[in-house]
Amino acid sequence: MGGEGFTEEVIRLAGEEIRTCIQCGTCSSSCSTAHLMDNSIRKLIRLVLEGRKREALASDSIWLCTSCLLCTVRCPRGIRPKAVVSALRQICEREGIRSKDASFERIFMDQIRSSGRISEVLLSAAYALRNPDAAVPIMEMGIELLSRGKVSLDPGSVSGMDEIQRIFREFENE
Ligand code: SF4
Ligand code: SF4
Repeated sequence: MGGEGFTEEVIRLAGEEIRTCIQCGTCSSSCSTAHLMDNSIRKLIRLVLEGRKREALASDSIWLCTSCLLCTVRCPRGIRPKAVVSALRQICEREGIRSKDASFERIFMDQIRSSGRISEVLLSAAYALRNPDAAVPIMEMGIELLSRGKVSLDPGSVSGMDEIQRIFREFENE
């Protein structure tokens, strides 16, 4: 699949409206894990539209998306950036490409298992500890988000932890 075929395949999987992207950056400025990503979701869409398959599929951003859907809710063009991420994951899986760094997925799952939800602060801190190169930008972004009240130090709690633990046990026994 060449550059043009790649663009068309992502559009087929994620929607024609991708062609109307104006690169406004609303998606990436809403993105809860933008500070961890090598390419913002806005740039990922540009790579797709320009047929830059190798760069797009090599981006760790594909694996750092938490499916929060803020990008999708806020895009002024009705584009679904999360669907673009899903399309890229699908193409990666088809072509045998996996995340270079599985630490984010592990931290994410550990938090869900222990408290049933994600704390952006704890998630970012744990990721920074395992990835010292990313620590400075993560800290800068964290301080800014905390000062604006966009993230909380208290992740809160959820009900139904028994059910969450049961789901984990079932997956582990598969
Ligand atoms: S918010 Fe929509 S239009 Fe703006 S850069 Fe993101 S995908 Fe493109
Ligand atoms: S769905 Fe993924 S790409 Fe979109 S804002 Fe959430 S984490 Fe970012």
